[in-house]
Amino acid sequence: MLTRVEQLRAQLAQKNLTGILITNPPNRRYLSGFTGSEGLLLILESTAYLCTDFRYLEQAAQEAPGWEVVKLDRPWTETVKKLVPSGSRIAFEAEFLTCARYRELEQEISGVEWVAEKGLVEKLRARKDAEEIKRLREAIRLTDDGALYLKSWLKPGLSEKDIALELEFYLRRRGASGPSFPFIVVSGPRSSLPHGRPSERRLVPGDIVTVDFGVIYDGYCSDLTRTFILGPPAPEQKALYDLVLAAQERALALAGPGVPAASVDASAREVIARAGYGDYFGHSLGHGVGLEIHEAPHLSSSSTEELQPGMVVTVEPGVYLPGSGGVRIEDVILITEHGREVLSQAPKHAFVL
Ligand code: ZN
Ligand code: ZN
Repeated sequence: MLTRVEQLRAQLAQKNLTGILITNPPNRRYLSGFTGSEGLLLILESTAYLCTDFRYLEQAAQEAPGWEVVKLDRPWTETVKKLVPSGSRIAFEAEFLTCARYRELEQEISGVEWVAEKGLVEKLRARKDAEEIKRLREAIRLTDDGALYLKSWLKPGLSEKDIALELEFYLRRRGASGPSFPFIVVSGPRSSLPHGRPSERRLVPGDIVTVDFGVIYDGYCSDLTRTFILGPPAPEQKALYDLVLAAQERALALAGPGVPAASVDASAREVIARAGYGDYFGHSLGHGVGLEIHEAPHLSSSSTEELQPGMVVTVEPGVYLPGSGGVRIEDVILITEHGREVLSQAPKHAFVL
């Protein structure tokens, strides 16, 4: 764990900062290993403090060896004040410190310069290490199993809610600690809702059914979308499915180290636009997955990031035709030294039921 802290310290030194206050929970876990729900990290040049309340002191000491565990006083600024040397320049996570808490720091602790920073730890988290990749593989294996399980019992008569519930039970029984986001199950005309919540609608023959789901395994998230067709597909359903698959395959083939994330997004978008459906693919192509379901890097037209080995991202083009239906296909890939490995293995061609 300390190597992560060392990497962060190197970034701080470049910015002339003497420390950082970490208040974003996934960043706290990433740096320290501490999984409790309350606490903050204060990383200075030579000491790393994990401050938490009475409930988590024992757990913190177990989960975060090498960290100085400190009990959080009330008010919390008292604890921080005791640890921060006067004259320090300390970064804080601008996106994860409330305005009220920032004011408390400013008012209660004199002689310290508080500097707003964004994305320092998130940048480190974007490239996964071997241990993280192992957990991600396991989370993804569970979702692959889930997709096969779905295929074995998806049938007319079931409601979208039934499907989401049964799938979640199955995945939890298989070892998932929980869903990584509320499952999306949309069918028939509702399949044009990219993020529709499961409804009471019951499946009927001929439906397109899009299921987007993921689990948390040992803290790490998976994310998978498969689109099923109930019965022999109508020609326009097959054309739509094949179009989305072709767009995805093009992006999968392009993704690799040194490739701008925006070009991967563009590669899939071009395929869909050329077929005349550009206006119906309104979201970005993909996102990083790790401790959070959506994290850096982002595969979108506005992204300025380049893919690098160790990044784990989704590739999920979709086409959504309002009132008629939609298709999305999503896989998770690992960027390697020479290309990419598609981590999700659930079949894509065999999902006509
Ligand atoms: Zn998804
Ligand atoms: Zn996704």
